[in-house]
Amino acid sequence: MSTGTTRTALVIGGGIAGPVTAMALRKAGIEATVYEAYPGTADGVGVTLTLAPNGLDALRIVGADEAVSGIGQPLVRSEMLDGRGGRIGELAGPAGLPPSRGLWRDELCRVLHETAAAQGVDVRYGKRLVGAEEHPDRIVARFADGTAAEADVLVGADGIRSTVRGLIDPDAPEPLAARLLNFGGAADIAVPARPDSSYFVFGRRGFFGYWVQPDGRTAWFANLPHDRPVPAAEARAVPASEWLARLREAYARDEPARDVLARTDAGALVVLGSLESMPKVPTWHRGRMVLVGDAAHAPSSSSGQGASQAVESAVQLARCLRDLPGPPPGAFAAYERLRRARAEKIIDRGNRTNGSKTVGPVGRTMMKLMMPVMTRTFLSPERTLGPEQRYTIDWDAPVAA
Ligand SMILES: Cc1cc2nc3c(=O)[nH]c(=O)nc-3n(C[C@H](O)[C@H](O)[C@H](O)COP(=O)(O)OP(=O)(O)OC[C@H]3O[C@@H](n4cnc5c(N)ncnc54)[C@H](O)[C@@H]3O)c2cc1C
Repeated sequence: MSTGTTRTALVIGGGIAGPVTAMALRKAGIEATVYEAYPGTADGVGVTLTLAPNGLDALRIVGADEAVSGIGQPLVRSEMLDGRGGRIGELAGPAGLPPSRGLWRDELCRVLHETAAAQGVDVRYGKRLVGAEEHPDRIVARFADGTAAEADVLVGADGIRSTVRGLIDPDAPEPLAARLLNFGGAADIAVPARPDSSYFVFGRRGFFGYWVQPDGRTAWFANLPHDRPVPAAEARAVPASEWLARLREAYARDEPARDVLARTDAGALVVLGSLESMPKVPTWHRGRMVLVGDAAHAPSSSSGQGASQAVESAVQLARCLRDLPGPPPGAFAAYERLRRARAEKIIDRGNRTNGSKTVGPVGRTMMKLMMPVMTRTFLSPERTLGPEQRYTIDWDAPVAA
């Protein structure tokens, strides 16, 4: 139970970090309400993502691990292919850990919201935060519909385009867009695959990832190099049928991307615009406001750690508010100390992985030759993924000031 001085919290954003933050805060004895801009849950929004063992372990603390283990599918290894039927290499997860889970984002959101609701978390939809006023004893949030709410603290779980980040620091950096367009979907075909592997194809013109679901459909994403970054809204203004035609042409000589795209309907194509990540955010908290999840540390989706890092931060923030007086300055400073270095190291790795997705034919041949050495050295499951995925949070341990 809370020995800190925080009793109530406004959590802005009901994506992944939002409901988990609210559940963790409640567990810490702090009353939390979630305010989400969308009018309802995120059905059909987004494509697939992976939840790593460290993310699942953090969900255990808020009692959401079992529900999440009931959706998606376990993925124990990644296999790298060259698009011509050849294998480049294979990466298994670190030994002794449960597998990562491949999930649809909207399903993960739904399950987290259901679990949060069962624990008594109140989620208000259609509440877009537009401003906040800080008082000596409380913070007041202002929403686009003219309403307001107040509490001891305000947590910005409002994603990579965070409004709270701008309220904390008007000079905060903007997201960085890679010159890679991001698409996803589900194809009405089961291409040859092991049921517990994800596959990454270094194709002739683009990168292509997929796994085959138990329902016999293939979940896929494509990262296609582009001469300039394209915001999601601009990409969505182009008809999906046109993007699908471009993708079919770009991957026409890559197996099995060609077959997967041939069996994807334009209506099932998700157009996400350029891959984005956040540069380092200098200020994570000010006064009674603090950031969690993508608002503070958004790695490129190439890291496979976005959702897992969001969940870890949510739980660690709640521990700090439980144990330390705040704000300011104790609890939020302790939270940043626990989280920043780890989250930013993962951002760096994600950015390096984006680089490998645009290697071209010569780089691809080199990669094939070097892969056996790479998987024994800097790409070894233990050295790279071990520290990320073996991380666990001791909820009961008191946080030192
Ligand atoms: C629409 C969408 C689709 C996505 N699709 C994918 C995907 O396909 N693959 C992938 O790997 N990652 C995807 N992501 C990102 C992924 O969910 C995050 O990287 C990660 O899970 C961290 O979650 P988060 O809760 O910090 O941020 P997010 O999941 O981005 O959640 C932030 C939430 O805050 C809400 N919000 C934003 N501004 C305000 C405001 N002013 N007031 C109130 N609420 C606000 C948003 O509507 C959203 O629900 C997507 C995110 C979004 C928002």
